[in-house]
Amino acid sequence: MTARRTKKATAKKATAKKVTAKKAPRMKAATAESAPAPARPPLTKEDAAAQLGIEQLRPEQEQVIAETLAGHDAVMIVPTGFGKSACYQIPSMLLPKPVVLVSPLLALLTDQHQKLVAANVPCVRLDGTVRGKARREAFERIEQGGSLLVMTTPETLLSAPLSEALQKCGVSLVAIDEAHCISEWGYDFRPAYRRLGGQIRALGQPPLLALTATAIGHVRETIVKSLRMRDPAVIAVSPHRSNLAFEVLPAEGDVRARVLVRLVKRLRRPGIVYCATRREVDMLWALLKRFRIPVHRYHGGMNATERSTEQRRYMRRGQRTVMVATNAFGLGIDKPDIRYILHYQSPASLEQYVQEAGRGGRDGKKANCILLYDPADREIHQALLNRSRIRPEQLFKLGAALEAWTDEQRSPSLEALALSAELGSRTTQALLSKIEEAGFATCEDSEIRVVDPSRSIEEDARSLAGQFERLRREDSRRLDLIGDYAVEPDCRATFLRAYFGEDADEPCGLCDVCRGKPRRPSGFFSPLAAPKPPERKKNDGRNRRGGRRGARRRSRGGRKRRGRRSGARPAAE
Ligand SMILES: [Zn+2]
Repeated sequence: MTARRTKKATAKKATAKKVTAKKAPRMKAATAESAPAPARPPLTKEDAAAQLGIEQLRPEQEQVIAETLAGHDAVMIVPTGFGKSACYQIPSMLLPKPVVLVSPLLALLTDQHQKLVAANVPCVRLDGTVRGKARREAFERIEQGGSLLVMTTPETLLSAPLSEALQKCGVSLVAIDEAHCISEWGYDFRPAYRRLGGQIRALGQPPLLALTATAIGHVRETIVKSLRMRDPAVIAVSPHRSNLAFEVLPAEGDVRARVLVRLVKRLRRPGIVYCATRREVDMLWALLKRFRIPVHRYHGGMNATERSTEQRRYMRRGQRTVMVATNAFGLGIDKPDIRYILHYQSPASLEQYVQEAGRGGRDGKKANCILLYDPADREIHQALLNRSRIRPEQLFKLGAALEAWTDEQRSPSLEALALSAELGSRTTQALLSKIEEAGFATCEDSEIRVVDPSRSIEEDARSLAGQFERLRREDSRRLDLIGDYAVEPDCRATFLRAYFGEDADEPCGLCDVCRGKPRRPSGFFSPLAAPKPPERKKNDGRNRRGGRRGARRRSRGGRKRRGRRSGARPAAE
């Protein structure tokens, strides 16, 4: 990893201060072996880091930890795999009262909890899956107070038992992971995130740390506003890593699957292929299997057992297979040696693209990030977004229903309101959090009250609908930006850095533009020969040079990777 740049800008300090960090030290995973149990609690952050198995903190980590220890709010914008967990784990070992981590990712909570227990770090996990004795013990530990990391989900934090326990013992810091859930997927993904701001205030307004991988301008503003953060320091780590080789390949219609198969056969594994829809995941999974490529799949339509089995197999160390998945795969995964991230379709935003591409090459070695681009992808995303965004007419309905309740001087429960507005309870909750956020209504003790009954809540709801129109326009703009990236005439890494608010600097030297747009041989786009039936004769195995199928095994060495660049390999397929 080469020089990283740190950017810090507080709301007061208008000038951004830049620090050039020398080689970022690599982090060691916190395991029992690397972290022997200390005799007493650590006193310095260096001690705490050592207990977690971290040899040296990165400058950005140091900065965030310093802010939180000083009791300041902070927003950390950090690519996946950077080591953000140290930024709340270390304060939890040093601060006098519990530190609360809120994360929507159960797998991450479980995994981190195990590692911390092994490293002898005081922590408890509390989410919907923790029951019975384990749950009682967790609460007992929280009641004791002191230095402790309480790992939980937004829903559990909003529940009365945990909220009361934390009010009693006090809280030193609340860290909110995946903070962009407040804005980006927002109401339909995690409505509970929207209510965190109020809940945290009820905990005595402890300092806040918001962590997110993807936050640009207005997303950051929404996080700060929604969580009611006070003049937070903003610490951003560049989303671009210098070992990522970006490339865009135009591939429209039928050509796309052909190009994909050829790439997957050539590129060094392990790799991830991202698709926009489940249907496409299933289709590509079957197709690659036919070409006898070791392949796994992952999407929200599979049951939990299937998903975790596929993920486990893919994650196994040294496993060199391909994962075909929707964007449901990858949050919180940590596999350092992924050699390529291939997008079969354009993602919905550049934030999503950079986040997904950033899962490649975490070991610091080169990884390919290839986008198969078809301008028609935009329509698919537009349709998906139209479905997920709240529709203004739903808001009118809710406003009218709430107004009717208010006229009768009654405060409905969520269920009653949903029923009278003829909306699903999930939708109602989502809409309500919007109305709450705008300060038009409150939801306390499961009773919904209009803040100012003299105003027309129906009118207020209408004005809110205007905001949704704005969100729709923003969606469109994001989709346009993907197109801009795809046709970018200059270095792709520079384009991405500039988009995330960094000064554009020298070209990366690795992307397809910097390398002079290597052209694929025309055969690359031509129809595929049908896969041969399974090899039976011993001889076939050795016939690798001529046969494409055999070549796929060799391509791991990277020779083929370069081969495709030179274009020297004509349409052999
Ligand atoms: Zn470049």
